[in-house]
Formats: sequence, structure tokens, C-alpha cells
Amino acid sequence: MGEPARKIDIIGSRPAFTQADADALNARFAGVDTMSMLRALFSEGILGRTAVVSSFGTESAVLLDLVARADKSVPVVFVDTLKMFPETLAYRDTLVETLGIENSWTVEPDPVVLAAKDGTDLRWSYDPDGCCEIRKVEPLKRAKAGLDSWISGRKAFQSQTRQNIARFEIEDGRLKVNPLGDWVKADLEAYFAETHLPRHPLEVDGYPSIGCQPCTSKVLPGEDPRAGRWRGWEKVECGIHVPEKPGEEPVF
Ligand code: SF4
Repeated sequence: MGEPARKIDIIGSRPAFTQADADALNARFAGVDTMSMLRALFSEGILGRTAVVSSFGTESAVLLDLVARADKSVPVVFVDTLKMFPETLAYRDTLVETLGIENSWTVEPDPVVLAAKDGTDLRWSYDPDGCCEIRKVEPLKRAKAGLDSWISGRKAFQSQTRQNIARFEIEDGRLKVNPLGDWVKADLEAYFAETHLPRHPLEVDGYPSIGCQPCTSKVLPGEDPRAGRWRGWEKVECGIHVPEKPGEEPVF
């Protein structure tokens, strides 16, 4: 079962971010390197109550390292769908310890919802959208409930659905920060080489993008790095990065 819901610090809350705020931040930090931007965001308290949301996938270490170097107290949230590779869980523990992350927590699916909607544990095989909704989207929604902003590791080059990612966006009334939105693969590789960060143990086995175990397969040379996710389905996103429309369930 996931950790109990956190009490929301009303005293520390700030007015909801607006598109004008996102536009102003995009203008202020245009051309500013990622580390300088993160240091300014944290030291000036610009983001309000914030957290990094990480999948602890093959490229996650870069963002986590940047954030930890800027401020080790920034919380890191991991959504454990209970379908993760054991290697991912071990990698999470390695990175939290190696980077000195002071505040990490894990959210899990609601066991009551799982029992009602995925009693066989096989929903992924016939309804991956529904499975992602109860195992990823809802737990993350719970984790974000007390936040003014969140920090994502999205990168524009990852697939065709992720082009033109602004550094600051408004999503469901929160500021979403994409510090790596303009990074390309070579930037990430250079960062790994320079910092000697640990790599995800499955990467060398042909997994450039890693999600849940049942929905992740190896990627062949020349394929999109995310081609191994939900192979055989039209699905390309888990729903975490797709905004909800008022009054509707999340769309995937
Ligand atoms: S990636 Fe697969 S197993 Fe994981 S939540 Fe989505 S459908 Fe379920």
C-alpha cells in the first residue's frame, strides 16, 4: 500500500500559476543553462511546493543529478505501479543513495481500486489505458495534490509526440517544469560521460526506454527509442503527460 496522503501545507501555498507566469519564466530563462536555471528556481523559491517526478528510467539520472546538485532537499516522487522491473527498483535505491537525495517517496496504486478493477493483475494485457489510469495516473494525481509545480524529465527528442517542449507549461492548474525540454541525446550522453553516473542495468540489454515490465520490450536498431513501449498497441504515452480536461477523466 502507498504511503499515507501528505498533509497539505496551506500556510505555504501560493496562488495558482497562470499561463502568464509560465510565459514570463520561459522569457526569463531563455538561453540560461539548465543548472543555473534550477539553482535560481530553488534559491528564489519560485516553484512553491514542488517535486521531481521520476520513473528512474534510462535517462532519469541526469535530471536527478542536476536537481540534487542544485538542492538535495527537493523531493523526488516515484510512481511504483507494482509492475516495475526489479532492476528499476534497485536502480532507484542506487540513485537515491549515490546522489544524496534527501527526500524521496513512492506512491502506489490504491489497493481497493486494484482489487475492483484489476483483480487478475492482467488488465495491462487487454486494456493498457485503463491499467495506466489506475496504476500511474491516479497515484500521481494523489502525489501532486499538494504541489504548486512539478518537475518532469521530458525531452523533445524522445518521440514524435514530444516535439517543441517549453521549459515551463501550465497543466491542470500547476506549473510543469521541463528542465531537459531542449536537451538532445548527445547532451545526455555527454553528461553521463562527464559525471560517471550509474546507468540503468537494463539499458545495455537493449532497453533505451523502460516502463512497466509487461509493457516494455527491446528496441531494434533504427527504431524510435520508445518503440518498445506498449508494442503492438497504438498507445504511446501513459497518461501522465496528457492534461485532463475539466470534468473529464484523464485522456491517454
Ligand atoms: S505500462 Fe503497462 S503495466 Fe504499467 S500501468 Fe501501463 S498498462 Fe499497466
